[in-house]
Amino acid sequence: MSQLSLPQLALLIDGEWRAPMSGRHFDTVNPASEEIIATVAEADRDDVDAAVQSAHRAFLSGVWSRRNGIERARVLWAVAARLRELESDIAVLESVDAGKPLAATRRQDIRAAVDCLEYFAGWADKLEGRTVPVREDALTYVSREPLGVVAAIVPWNFPLMNAVWKLAPALACGCSVVLKPAELTPLSALRLGEIFLECGLPRGVLNIVPGYGHITGQALIEHPLVSKISFTGSPGVGKHIMRTASERAIHVGLELGGKSPALIFADADLEAAARAVASGAFFNAGQVCSAATRVLVAREAHDRFVDSLTARMAKIRTGDPLAAGTSMGPVISRKQQDGILDAIEGAKKQGATLAYAGDCDSPRGFFVPPTLFTDVTPDMAIAQKEIFGPVLGVTAFDGDAQGVALANDSRYSLAASVWSQDIKRAHAAARAVRAGTVWVNTYGHTDTRLPWGGMGGESGVGRDLGRDALENYTEQKAVWVQL
Ligand code: NAD
Repeated sequence: MSQLSLPQLALLIDGEWRAPMSGRHFDTVNPASEEIIATVAEADRDDVDAAVQSAHRAFLSGVWSRRNGIERARVLWAVAARLRELESDIAVLESVDAGKPLAATRRQDIRAAVDCLEYFAGWADKLEGRTVPVREDALTYVSREPLGVVAAIVPWNFPLMNAVWKLAPALACGCSVVLKPAELTPLSALRLGEIFLECGLPRGVLNIVPGYGHITGQALIEHPLVSKISFTGSPGVGKHIMRTASERAIHVGLELGGKSPALIFADADLEAAARAVASGAFFNAGQVCSAATRVLVAREAHDRFVDSLTARMAKIRTGDPLAAGTSMGPVISRKQQDGILDAIEGAKKQGATLAYAGDCDSPRGFFVPPTLFTDVTPDMAIAQKEIFGPVLGVTAFDGDAQGVALANDSRYSLAASVWSQDIKRAHAAARAVRAGTVWVNTYGHTDTRLPWGGMGGESGVGRDLGRDALENYTEQKAVWVQL
């Protein structure tokens, strides 16, 4: 662990690192070794109150909310540059805390965070309003104003990236933020807090309160000075947050779960589809909201596709995230591991065929082998429930209409892919599938310039990323000036 540079393990409140008023701390564990990496301060209701009060004071003072956009941009650019410089260090921290293969953390998580900061830095001085002529004797215009204090609550699967997806647009727009990282992976958020302070973010504009969902998170979502809750996590907690927010009728953005279909027609490039599904289903040990876990294949292509997929699965190397050559790490916790193993047993009991199960015989760590089921029918739990692990099911379909109907037979609506070499068929399927993102003959890309989110239900509402995210953190104000 000598290569690991640990961040401050206190709470970031009002521009300084504070011991928790709760007096409590919690351990964060390396999921590959089950060793404790660090002991982190836990924020309780009083700590959360201090953090929100500080964010609110900073907002009202105008030190950030009314600062020239170009100056806000400079801070975000500086944070992006510092993240680049510290990439190796932060990648190790994130890999050890979240069990992610190091190469993937560098390639995906850190790069996406840097891109996102740079993209929204570019918007900070371009939040323009508009004039709307309505009467001869009045000047009428619409301006955009920052919302106020944003509660940002994020999960453990992409800890740094998900935090930045919320912080970058909120700060670009002039909001203040209280960030609650997941209790399983608080370290990279704390490191990010250090960087923001170093780069000149005024005190109180960003506060970071690690802790448990039902204590720290609950106090945050109930706080009367919070103007917006921006949440990424499970559907159950998302709906609870929406109910809580409804008490005060405040803004809510929910990025929730997924059970994403890969719809593969008989004329698809099956090798390309198998390669993409293997990476789309097993990347981050399947703990990805858009993981390709419902594979729907035209019956005539089924056997060839499954052969090609299992050949690729056989090449997945499960093991220590820091070891070169590891392509899949552990899942995040013992609880997550148990849940996934239960889902595998459930699929067997419900009659799915276990077509492939990889090796992973590590004596320690929360490992689950890459697992493939065939003969999956739509009524089975494995076809309907998000497992959030390296498990996927294949269902054969007959005819395009049945394929599309199966793809849409889900309470989730986050992402989908369609595979066909016939451009008309591919476009028709892309239009027919209900999902916030559709990939055609590819899988899994996200980009900070494109909106990301579900079409309601278990996948949530609202969009992170893209220019649409600016709407999340600003209000419109119509102004009449009598002439
Ligand atoms: P989770 O809902 O258990 O936890 C997410 C966050 O919410 C954590 O920080 C947790 O402490 C907090 N939380 C829990 N209870 C709370 C409460 N009562 N009040 C306030 N905060 C509370 O989710 P998870 O298990 O950490 O993450 C997995 C889920 O996240 C999956 O369903 C996955 O699909 C989803 N996810 C979605 C996206 C997306 O972009 N749509 C991205 C990543 C993960």
